[in-house]
Amino acid sequence: MTDCTFCKIIAGEIPCTKVYEDDEILAFQDIHPVAPVHVLFVPKKHFADLSEAGPEDQALLGKMLLTIAQEAPKLGLSEGYRIVSNYGGSAGQTIEHFHIHLLGGKYMSSMG
Ligand code: AMP
Ligand code: ZN
Repeated sequence: MTDCTFCKIIAGEIPCTKVYEDDEILAFQDIHPVAPVHVLFVPKKHFADLSEAGPEDQALLGKMLLTIAQEAPKLGLSEGYRIVSNYGGSAGQTIEHFHIHLLGGKYMSSMG
């Protein structure tokens, strides 16, 4: 998608601090971190949110979670971490390209 910040990062048109990459997934540092570790895991395929994902994306979505589990210890998060995916404006989604936030490196209180 031409006017999508994350598609531009994936295409190399906007720089990022890359943490992980394979043929389907890119992970990079969030530009406005809210925790000592704040990494965004992004599918290279553009879809705005989970409502646009379909059965054909099932393996990719599962792979994203398994990739986070694989990479989190390498980022110093063996003690624990939080994953978040905002869907829609009322949840605070600002980039309409599906992504999962990986947060950690500090104590995080209960969600609420
Ligand atoms: P969300 O609000 O859930 O849609 O998350 C979007 C995230 O993308 C926010 O935490 C932003 O700080 C982050 N962000 C926006 N632009 C960039 C960028 N160019 N590089 C890295 N992170 C970005
Ligand atoms: Zn996109």
